[in-house]
Amino acid sequence: MLKEKIDGFIKDSGFSDEPSSCALAIINPVNFSLINHTLGFETGNKIIVEMSNKIKNIIKSYDILARWEADKFAVFLKRLKFDEDALHIVNRILAVLSEPYMPDGGKKINISFNAGISLYPKDAGASQDMFDKAESALLNSRLKGENTVGFFKKEFEESARKKVELRNGLNEAMAKNQFVLHYQPYFDIKTGSIKGAEALLRWQRDGILTPPMEFIPFLEQSGMITKVENWIFGEVASKIKIWSDRGLNVVPVSVNISPASFGDPHIKDDIEAALGKNGIAPDLFNFEIVERTFIDNLEYSGRLLNYLKEKGFGLSIDDFGTGYSSLSYLAELPFDYLKIDISFVRKMLLDKHSRYIVETIIYLSKKLNMKSIAEGVEAEEQLELLKELGCDYIQGFLLSKPLEETKFEKLLGN
Ligand code: C2E
Ligand code: MG
Ligand code: MG
Repeated sequence: MLKEKIDGFIKDSGFSDEPSSCALAIINPVNFSLINHTLGFETGNKIIVEMSNKIKNIIKSYDILARWEADKFAVFLKRLKFDEDALHIVNRILAVLSEPYMPDGGKKINISFNAGISLYPKDAGASQDMFDKAESALLNSRLKGENTVGFFKKEFEESARKKVELRNGLNEAMAKNQFVLHYQPYFDIKTGSIKGAEALLRWQRDGILTPPMEFIPFLEQSGMITKVENWIFGEVASKIKIWSDRGLNVVPVSVNISPASFGDPHIKDDIEAALGKNGIAPDLFNFEIVERTFIDNLEYSGRLLNYLKEKGFGLSIDDFGTGYSSLSYLAELPFDYLKIDISFVRKMLLDKHSRYIVETIIYLSKKLNMKSIAEGVEAEEQLELLKELGCDYIQGFLLSKPLEETKFEKLLGN
């Protein structure tokens, strides 16, 4: 309906010399589904009505406003003198939209927005094209942050297309069993014996292996990460069981937990379900958490971490030194391992400050009764220096890359 109207307008305007350009803006409240979940659909609808009234107050009577997809608005702005007018108008719309809502009279609700704009005739020549490009501009806005307006950019289109493809592919990855785990062991620096391994997620499809940094952010954005990590708990637990049954020398396996899973209200149940079913000892299971995961909510984190600790699981701080390191939490939270971030290990031979940082982290972990694990050890010289500094364990390509399951099994058999 809206598309027909747009195409009709564009066609007619071809015969008049008045309109110079028009714009399509897609406006998207951030996390609106959360509002519906927490406040109910009725309140959600009230807010949507208020939003559309706010938009109507700004646009001209001949412009078109429509709901678009579940929670977006599409605004078609006609007869713009200059392309920049579109930005000006959409900025004004965002300014009023982001003022607080009070649907039930009481508590103020703050909502942020993203908006993407495509222009006729600069970006597109017909409605479908305008929509595609406004969506691409919306992605651009999301990258810039909340309450920003994105424009369509050619160079952006290609990367946006790839992202859409990635996202669509990821939606099916679980059902198609395309996720696999690789296992990267870590070793005692003095004896060289294997002390544990880290399970690292890979996405395998059509013979291509995609590394986690390329797709985990999408799993996090879409909320799918919790489902995937839940699968990882079960997968690792069942593998530990199989390896034990085969009489291999099983070592503790670490899994990385994202902030979303860590904050998920079902996490305790999920862990218990995965591990209980396989009857494995909790000390064969370790959780790796980066600082940003717990720094925002120390009270909740403290409770959950203490609970996991009491259950007998191991706990590691991952990428230590790169987050918002506040040393006070170290004394309060029951971690067993400090993983020294790869960036310090990488620089410590050339840069004395990095070396001092590594030295200090190792010292700190000893004083706090934690084991230090150096990440990303690639060279013999790094190993030697870490040994000299008293580091406990090392992980890195020098001793082993992340291994496919069958190769890791062989390592456990030796
Ligand atoms: P991380 O947890 O710090 O994992 C260590 C990363 O360093 C791994 O990259 C590993 O392959 C890489 N690495 C290990 N040794 C070396 C080395 O000597 N040199 C170099 N250059 N790299 C080394 P990977 O597998 O690409 O994983 C990257 C990150 O993705 C992980 O960092 C972790 O934050 C995240 N990740 C992986 N699996 C999961 C998962 O299941 N859940 C979550 N939330 N994050 C995961
Ligand atoms: Mg890790
Ligand atoms: Mg790490």
